[in-house]
Amino acid sequence: MQLTPRQEKIVEIVKRHGPITSQQIAAMLNLTRAALRPDLAILTMSGILEARPRVGYFYHGGSVQALIADEIKKIKVGDVKGLPKVIRRDASVYDAIVALFIEDVGTLMVVDGEGHLEGVVSRKDLLKAAIGGTANLQQMPVSVVMTRMPNIVCTTPDESILHAARKIIEHEVDALPVVRPVGPSGNKLEVVGRITKTTIARLFVELGTAGR
Ligand code: ADP
Repeated sequence: MQLTPRQEKIVEIVKRHGPITSQQIAAMLNLTRAALRPDLAILTMSGILEARPRVGYFYHGGSVQALIADEIKKIKVGDVKGLPKVIRRDASVYDAIVALFIEDVGTLMVVDGEGHLEGVVSRKDLLKAAIGGTANLQQMPVSVVMTRMPNIVCTTPDESILHAARKIIEHEVDALPVVRPVGPSGNKLEVVGRITKTTIARLFVELGTAGR
């Protein structure tokens, strides 16, 4: 929100002297209380200032938008992640298509025999394999059509959900595996969950209806 120079002055005064009455603010600015009323109304409605009867105005620490942003930044991937949906690297493309229907997802994480992340296979990867019509989908391993490590965009349980959502947008993907390093040198990744566009949409609705 863009404040006028006068509104900025009011905020500065309240920051420094709050709680402070409108009469005192008006005196400091050489204005009447009536002249100040519209500005105070805007500043309280936007959440920048708070007015308490018989106490006066005090600074609320920022706009409502800034408060919402602060709350969102506190939410971690681990707080909202869904269950991992994985398929073994030697499973067939056919099995992967069946798994999409059974699991009701659009993306599967592909893992090796020990459950370590090897790749990701999405709807379009599977459609591409099927559309030619020549491949034997029951025999073609899913590892042939997946996007593989190290090109997988991942997230971790302690990353902020805002950061994870930004990765989804920037890399134009529907889902991120949530991983944690395992093994002696920590160079293998265990899949511990997933974040999808649906996770973000659900969180958005929860935040929008919280406390109602
Ligand atoms: P869809 O195929 O349903 O459009 P995506 O947009 O997520 O799904 O997938 C587009 C491409 O990106 C596919 O080739 C897929 O293998 C790849 N992909 C999907 N998720 C990731 C990810 N987290 N990191 C890297 N590549 C991914």
